[in-house]
Parts: sequence; C-alpha cells; structure tokens
Amino acid sequence: MKVFISRPIPKVGIDMLKAKGWDVVVNEKAEGRAATKAELIEGAKSSDAILAVLTDKIDGEVMDVGTPALKIIANYAVGFDNIDLEAAKQRKIMVTNTPGVLTNTVAEHTFTLMLSIAHRISEADRFSRAGRYHAWGPNLLLGTDLSGKTLGVVGLGRIGSRVAFHAVKGFEMKVLYNDPKPNSDFEKEFGAQYVERIDDMLPHCDFVSIHVPLLDSTHHLINEARLKIMKRSAYLINTSRGPIIDEKALALSLSKGWIRGAAIDVFEFEPEIVPELKELDNVILTPHIASATGETRNKMAEMAAQNIIEALGGRTPPNLVK
Ligand code: NAD
Repeated sequence: MKVFISRPIPKVGIDMLKAKGWDVVVNEKAEGRAATKAELIEGAKSSDAILAVLTDKIDGEVMDVGTPALKIIANYAVGFDNIDLEAAKQRKIMVTNTPGVLTNTVAEHTFTLMLSIAHRISEADRFSRAGRYHAWGPNLLLGTDLSGKTLGVVGLGRIGSRVAFHAVKGFEMKVLYNDPKPNSDFEKEFGAQYVERIDDMLPHCDFVSIHVPLLDSTHHLINEARLKIMKRSAYLINTSRGPIIDEKALALSLSKGWIRGAAIDVFEFEPEIVPELKELDNVILTPHIASATGETRNKMAEMAAQNIIEALGGRTPPNLVK
C-alpha cells in the first residue's frame, strides 16, 4: 500500500502508518507552505490513500490521478470544504475528517480571542512595546467585561456548544443560539435560548461567535446588512471558516463603528488578509491556529492515520464524511 501525506504532520500519525509496513510518502517540501497542485498530483499517483490538510484543494483531477488505487482521502481537519465530496462519491473514494478531538482547543482559542478583543490585549501589548506607557490612567485602554453579557452562538455543534459552556459556566453570560435545529437539552442545562432566524438574534448580542461549516448556504452568512443590525458595542469572533464573513464588509463595519471590534482566526482569501483589516486597531488576527496545540495536533494525526488504517484494512473508517 502507498500512503501520500501532503504536508509534514506530527510524527505519531506517520509512525502508525509506517508500522503497517506501507510505503508512506511525506511531502516534506511543503513545510511552512501549502502543497502545490503539481505536488498533489504527483503524490496521488498510484496512492491507496491521501492524508490531506485544509490547504489542499482535492478535486476530481487529483482523484483521477489516484484512480483506481485510491480508496480514501483522510482530511487532517474537522472541516472538509477543501475536498470535492461529489467527485469523491462518483469515484467511490471515502472521505474522512477529525471531529471531536479539536473541540476543546478551538473553544479555548475562541475564548482567548473573545477575552483579548474585549480587554484590548493586542492593542495594549503594542502600546507597551512602543514605549507609550507613561503613567497609569483611569481612562487608559478601557475595555468591556464579558460577565453578564449576551453571547450569540451561530452553529451550536460540537465547538459552538463548548464555547457556550465556557460562557455560561465560566462567565455567567446569557447564551442565544442560532442553528437549523434547536437543542432542548442544551437549553435546559445552560439556560440558553434558541433564535430561529439569525437576523432576530444579532441585534441582541454583545458578542457573536461563528461555528458553522463552510457550505454554499453559509458563504457570506455575515454580510454588510447583518453587520449593520448588530449592536454598535458588539464584538464578532470567527474561528470557523473565512468566507463565512464578507471580509471587506467587516473592515468597513469596523472602520465605520457599526460594531466595536472583531477577532478572527480565518480569512476569506486565506492566507491573504484584506489590507484594510490590517490597518485597524479594533481587530485581532490569528493565522488559522485555533486547533494548534501540540496535544490536539497529535490527536488529529492519530485519528487521520486510524481512518486510513481502517479503510485500507477493508473496514469502514470511524470518521466517514457522509
Ligand atoms: P459541527 O458539525 O459539530 O457543528 C456545526 C453546527 O453548525 C451544527 O450544529 C449545524 O447544525 C450548524 N449549522 C449548519 N448550517 C448552519 C447555518 N446556516 N446556520 C446556523 N447553524 C448552522 O462542527 P464543529 O466540529 O463544531 O466545527 C465547526 C466548524 O469549525 C468546522 O466546520 C470547521 O470549518 C471549523 N473549524 C475551524 C478550526 C480552526 O482551526 N479555525 C478548527 C476546527 C473547526
């Protein structure tokens, strides 16, 4: 069996595959950068499995190079918007992801962003380093408390509900949530309130945190019109996928004061960031690192490798994307 790994991943996952005695090819050239299409095509040749990451666009062309050997594309991510699922289905290639193991880490990063933007941490750090701290002041860099405020969670899945858990249990926030389906058990446990239409929720939130997958229906879910109906004092957090927010509209809303701040880990034209955003002080930008802890990245590598081991062993992999 040949397994192609598109970018260097934690050793634990590579070792699991090597232990099977398989030919494991790691695209070492793609350290610190995305794999090129040519590298993906070369790697797919006569591969039984591809272990892909979210910077890889795995389309029908790449799949055809691997056909007929290619049985599984194991994505090293919970999101799978980088893989053409329809093309995989047509070619009877299995697609798997890594759900659950990164939930706590992404929720922690989401809260880090929420606290940091509300307490102006990045701004304060830049201020201190620039030698501008001359005296303590009653009005110096005033921020906003989280405690007692209202958080709107868009997408109450694994990560969204963990963020809501921290908000309610840790900060006594009130939680509103918008999702295609209500969750009455969650409502009972956390005193959360379901809002069927996002437009009815946004005007009531002090913080809005996005946790939906990237789908045609969620592309630009947050657009200019929706930014305009948010509170002028509100903060927007996004650790899901960049294109869910219209980034140019976000930059406009922050410069015009339609909302007070934003903290985002993902970008519409990743890795590019619209230049207007980088000029602003009331936004925090992290480079898609919400799941980036050593522990979690090891677990993701193990899970992706296990999915391949099951599939190539003729069994149904545990994290099959349907
Ligand atoms: P999940 O499938 O458990 O949750 C997604 C939720 O969104 C579901 O409850 C679903 O019903 C809801 N949803 C779908 N469409 C919606 C819509 N139009 N409006 C409102 N809600 C909608 O997924 P998860 O494990 O919680 O992950 C969520 C997303 O986070 C992933 O799809 C991925 O793109 C992103 N993510 C990003 C990072 C990062 O590094 N920044 C890491 C992990 C996950």
